[in-house]
Amino acid sequence: MVMGHEFMGIVEETGPQVTELKKGDRVVVPFPIACGGCFFCGHGLPGHCENSNPEKYGPEGGILTEKGGALFGYTDIYGGYDGGQAQYVRVPYANFGPRKVRSDFTDEQVLFLTDIFPTGYTAVGWGEIKGGETVAVFGCGPVGIDGTEVCVGARSATGHWT
Ligand SMILES: [Zn+2]
Repeated sequence: MVMGHEFMGIVEETGPQVTELKKGDRVVVPFPIACGGCFFCGHGLPGHCENSNPEKYGPEGGILTEKGGALFGYTDIYGGYDGGQAQYVRVPYANFGPRKVRSDFTDEQVLFLTDIFPTGYTAVGWGEIKGGETVAVFGCGPVGIDGTEVCVGARSATGHWT
C-alpha cells in the first residue's frame, strides 16, 4: 500500500465520466474518498460516504469493521486505496473530491488545506476557545502547529480573539 493521504498535483488523465476536471488542471485532493451522491455526501459529511468503502462500511463503528467512507493511503478498513506518496494517484469519484487550485496560489499555500490545517482548525473549535485564554498545545507536530497558527491568526487579524 502506498501511504500519504494529503496530496496535490496535475491531472494527467481522466476517465470517461469525469466532467469537472481536465488534463493539466492543478488540484488538491482531500483525503476522504467520497461519491458526492449519497445521503452523507449530500449533507456535507463526505467522511461518512456510504459508497466508497463498501466492504468495511457500517453504522456501528466496530474496531475492525463498520467504518466510515474510504480514505487515501490508509488501511484496508478504510477501503485499501493507495495514497499520494507516488508519482501518480488514481482518484475515484474525481468529479466530487478534488479542488482546482487557482494559479495565483503556490503549492505551499494550499497543500495543507486538505487535512492538516482543517484538523488544527477543528481542534481549536473543539477546544471552545473564546478569547483571552492561555492555550497550551501538547504535541506540536503539523496539527499542533496549525492549531497554534489558527489561534495566533485569529488574534492578529482582529486585534482580539474571535
Ligand atoms: Zn457518498
